[in-house]
Amino acid sequence: MPRLRIHVTGWDRRSLVLTDTPQPDCPDCDGEGGHNHDYGDHETGEYAGTDWDPCHCWDENRRWTLFPLPRLPRRRTPQTDPWGPASGYSDEPPF
Ligand SMILES: [Zn+2]
Repeated sequence: MPRLRIHVTGWDRRSLVLTDTPQPDCPDCDGEGGHNHDYGDHETGEYAGTDWDPCHCWDENRRWTLFPLPRLPRRRTPQTDPWGPASGYSDEPPF
């Protein structure tokens, strides 16, 4: 029975999702959830990348969205005092 894991996903619209996880004692993947396959370029034979092969003991696409999280307001604009000493002048980079 695969364990379930709750985590937060999404960049723009964050939501809480429940995802399937690999079997910790799976004989095929040893709980890793899959295998990496290095592959080489067909002509030169040099290393060209790594393929991720998910194991059969879990389904990485099986997920349930529990509920969307509210967007947290971000105060990135500094509070400026119009009457402060730095009024009209700033050497801060614009971020
Ligand atoms: Zn497995």
